[in-house]
Amino acid sequence: MVARVVPVDPFDLVVFGATGDLARRKLIPALYHRMHDGQMPEDARIVGVARAQLDAEGYRRMAEAALDEFGGEDARDAEMRRKFLATIDYVPLDVMEEAGWSRLKDALPTACGDRPRAFYLSVAPRFFGPIAEGVHAAGLTDANSRIVIEKPLGHDLASAAALNGVFAGHFSEHQIFRIDHYLGKETVQNLMALRFANAFFEPLWNARHIDHVQITVAEKVGVEGRGPYYDGIGAMRDMVQNHLLQLLCLVAMEPPSQFEPDAVRDEKLKVLRALAPLTRLEDVVRGQYAAGPGMPSYVEDANAPTSRTETFIALKAEVANWRWAGVPFYLRTGKRMKSRVSEVAVVFKSAPHSIFPAASGRAAQNVLALRLQPDEAITLGMTIKEPGPGGMRLAPAVLDMTFADTLGASNMRMPDAYERLVMDVIRGDQTLFMRGDEVEAAWAWVDAITARVDGERPELYEPGSAGPDDALMLMHRDGRRWRELAQ
Ligand code: NAD
Repeated sequence: MVARVVPVDPFDLVVFGATGDLARRKLIPALYHRMHDGQMPEDARIVGVARAQLDAEGYRRMAEAALDEFGGEDARDAEMRRKFLATIDYVPLDVMEEAGWSRLKDALPTACGDRPRAFYLSVAPRFFGPIAEGVHAAGLTDANSRIVIEKPLGHDLASAAALNGVFAGHFSEHQIFRIDHYLGKETVQNLMALRFANAFFEPLWNARHIDHVQITVAEKVGVEGRGPYYDGIGAMRDMVQNHLLQLLCLVAMEPPSQFEPDAVRDEKLKVLRALAPLTRLEDVVRGQYAAGPGMPSYVEDANAPTSRTETFIALKAEVANWRWAGVPFYLRTGKRMKSRVSEVAVVFKSAPHSIFPAASGRAAQNVLALRLQPDEAITLGMTIKEPGPGGMRLAPAVLDMTFADTLGASNMRMPDAYERLVMDVIRGDQTLFMRGDEVEAAWAWVDAITARVDGERPELYEPGSAGPDDALMLMHRDGRRWRELAQ
């Protein structure tokens, strides 16, 4: 099956940081796939901007190498490659130097006209202000322009508010696209489809029927070369403030009146504002990975011998409103863990009374699991009768609700989140992007926690484990347990 695509209008996309990792690994392949699938028109234009003194031909060679490395099967189509590379231009520009901006002006018409013009800031945040200022001063912005940024969006509430202020000086809120690429994942959007397009989940989606929610983002890798960036930041700021809280919002939000950007974001904001302050220190567990066989510890990786930065964090959060009163949301994320898995698990309460004799076995709690990584999938854990004539024996069964086969899509390439998100930028659809007030509300909750725990010594954990023992205790204390991290 070929996915249905609606072509977007011709556009100009200016990628600042075009020679960097994000641009080569994600953006260039994403744009190629959108053209390959018939969504990006041939008269769209991509203008790469970076410091490297390349000409357009030199940058096209770099883009081609990125397609070889990260573009997969579809990128072998020679004719499509030729068409795609023809859309690419390049401008060498140091954004900190005023002199270079005229070269970008030469590459773009002054007015956007009816072509949407997006500035994608695939650069370190210290360049966000100068670029917002630069494109504005060069007269390259108007009502049809938009700006795209991505984490880190500040490191606390004050810096996030300052960043929002920088952009607000030159763009209105509907022109600012703050990416959290988790929101571009198919499964995350499916969570909204499941909740709001089916009648039978929503009546159960509350404290009466849901026992707890677990959100896990586990990585196998350590900080690798990112040590200098990561040290002093840690898992709370790097992962919880954005990805995990965004997932929590989508589970916990009230049904918006429409699937429309501000209606959805208003509901997410209400969830963030309803997060109860964490008052019990035992509800926060911070860990740091120790050395393992052939693997350096975090402090060796980061070359920071006395560092107290956490590479793992587990939290018990609570959404203090009528729907969720008393339902814990357990969050955990860490590096150098047993496996790479991102998952949301909604664990329902047990049936109120068992009619079956003890010999039949116990019914497991129903679990709706949404897996984002490594393979996207949605499953519902059920209890059924064990097939056969052996009497009434209860057995667990997992319903695969991914439905790729039902839709004839099992052979379809799963589009990367960036493909969806970049096209949404061009369409001007902000539903899957964070609004400035959401980012600030998330920081406000995180800041209150980091103010209490930063500087405490994190508990060391074995690489390849499920994190520190105290994280297991966090749930054991409540008579619950984390879901297994598969190998
Ligand atoms: P990178 O270091 O690989 O690339 C940075 C780019 O910025 C390069 O193209 C470089 O030429 C350009 N640059 C640096 N100084 C410049 C200047 N003065 N003028 C013009 N261009 C300049 O970084 P990256 O990994 O691509 O990440 C870019 C941003 O995106 C960072 O803020 C990062 O935190 C964020 N991010 C990256 C990823 C990822 O997967 N790499 C994921 C999420 C967010």
